[in-house]
Amino acid sequence: MSLQDLLDFNQKFVEDKSYEAYRTDVYPNKKMVIFTCMESRLLELLHRALNLENGDAKIVKNAGAIIRKPFDSIVKSILVAVYNLKADEVIVIGHHDCGMSNVDVDALKQRMLDRGISEERLNTLEYSGIDLDEEFHGFTEVENSVTQSTEIIRNHPLLPEGIKVHGLVIDPHTGKVDVVTRDGE
Ligand SMILES: [Zn+2]
Repeated sequence: MSLQDLLDFNQKFVEDKSYEAYRTDVYPNKKMVIFTCMESRLLELLHRALNLENGDAKIVKNAGAIIRKPFDSIVKSILVAVYNLKADEVIVIGHHDCGMSNVDVDALKQRMLDRGISEERLNTLEYSGIDLDEEFHGFTEVENSVTQSTEIIRNHPLLPEGIKVHGLVIDPHTGKVDVVTRDGE
């Protein structure tokens, strides 16, 4: 698989007007913004398991569905979805068996060194306040991580009244979802 395969497929996709089945507008039909992990096993499974069609929700992703700072790019995306795109419900979805659980940061740093990043460069970053342990450590329990991310959104100084924020965990094998924390209906 390479970029060329994607481009070849794309040409045919457009020629065949396959896009017609996916037409929708920019506003999420279900007024939701979903924040989840970049996990490739969830690429289609998450949508199928929750009955989400094209156009139903704004989707924001990062490694681990992790928010630890109130003004990171994820939170900004969520706020844009709320203020500009009429989303009134935010759902954080972590998953079991996540690559960001129990990340071995020392092993990660070693991989960086092995790939040609110099020790000096790592040190320079640390001196300038980039704490790689803090940036990459991930989490131990996915439920706790989802709760943390959810709380940062709920308590955000720029989140308006009336926005529900929920936290879920999904099984990447079966698609089964468990509720970690739920705002009142
Ligand atoms: Zn993950």
